[in-house]
Amino acid sequence: MADRLDPILPGSYLGILGGGQLGRMFTHAAQAMGYKVCVLDPDANSPAGAVAEKHIKADYTDHAALKEMAALCSAASTEFENVPAQALDELEALGVYVAPKSGGVSVAQNRITEKKFLATWQAEAGIGPAMHHVIERDADLAHISDDLLPGILKTARMGYDGKGQVTVHTRAELENAWHTFGQVQCVLEKRMDLDFEVSALVARGHDDEVVAYPVAQNIHKNGILHTTTVPAPSLKPTQEVRIVEAAKAIIRRLDYVGVLCVEFFVLKSGEIVANEIAPRPHNSGHYTQNACVTSQFEQQVRAMARVPLGSTALVQSSIMLNILGDEWLVTGSQVEPSWNTVLEDPAAKLHLYGKAEPRQARKMGHINFVGPTSSDVSAACKKAIEVLRITR
Ligand code: ADP
Ligand code: MG
Repeated sequence: MADRLDPILPGSYLGILGGGQLGRMFTHAAQAMGYKVCVLDPDANSPAGAVAEKHIKADYTDHAALKEMAALCSAASTEFENVPAQALDELEALGVYVAPKSGGVSVAQNRITEKKFLATWQAEAGIGPAMHHVIERDADLAHISDDLLPGILKTARMGYDGKGQVTVHTRAELENAWHTFGQVQCVLEKRMDLDFEVSALVARGHDDEVVAYPVAQNIHKNGILHTTTVPAPSLKPTQEVRIVEAAKAIIRRLDYVGVLCVEFFVLKSGEIVANEIAPRPHNSGHYTQNACVTSQFEQQVRAMARVPLGSTALVQSSIMLNILGDEWLVTGSQVEPSWNTVLEDPAAKLHLYGKAEPRQARKMGHINFVGPTSSDVSAACKKAIEVLRITR
């Protein structure tokens, strides 16, 4: 039976673990609705800390800091999956409404538990994980089937933006790669022939209401998200229905309150595979800020505040283009990109995260292009790629 708790109303403090760009955009959305935000992040220069009413600069395992946060906040959430589950549990024990709870977050913290979970619910969700093998000790290497090569060796923990993974073609390469990773827990996945990649963004309220955004199509470059296009140009309507149903089954099975994203691969064979779960708003959901009635960040606020969820309707076609530190470094020395020229397109919506140092491959911001048709937005995105001299 779903619980029905009182709503947490505007004026209250909401807590967020992590002060990166996701925390910053969450903070903006919360403040727009009249909430106050407390960020916990050890980094004094964190993007979210700069805009929140309160920034506690301490580690996620600092008991005094968690106590301070609990005293201020009615609800708390996390902006990244690698926050220690114990921090969420501690806040909950201190009487804070935590959404999502540590159980739902920790499944996604480790690729082994994540794949086990996806495989367990394959029958119900209708879509399962990629063919894989867990590697925890030397002896596991002997049991690898030839079918898994060429494959991608991924560390079980802490991988993101293509980090912590490497393609291996032979058993010798696999063995080497595993030793290079320091023999930590890994998963070897078969390298599949991808037709395209999509992600499903869903949200669930405390009362078990589940809503889904339109499925988004993603292009990655060097393991980092490059663009997200909505509606997904390559997806068949029947595939979209299956993917949305799978994502809804996953969020319910995790008993998860908040916004969650599931990445899927659509293979050349037409088969659909579930890649990974992000227990939070996701980079591929940034388009919702300007193309949907309710942004993914506002939705996270609504879910954790136990107020009704907002409409996920798509108002306009959209492409999101990620802006990396590389865009400052085209000439070799640091030059601010020509935002003024980008903004000559009146439907280009610029979002920058306030990070001081533009490093290569560092996410600095994104632009959402919105318009009545997909050809309008793709032309606008192409133009900005030229202006910013993006060559990836
Ligand atoms: P991350 O946590 O870095 O996002 P992913 O597992 O999502 O890690 O992998 C990043 C990207 O690498 C994917 O979006 C996809 O383009 C590619 N990739 C990952 N696994 C496979 C696979 N098994 N077969 C083919 N491509 C893959
Ligand atoms: Mg991924």
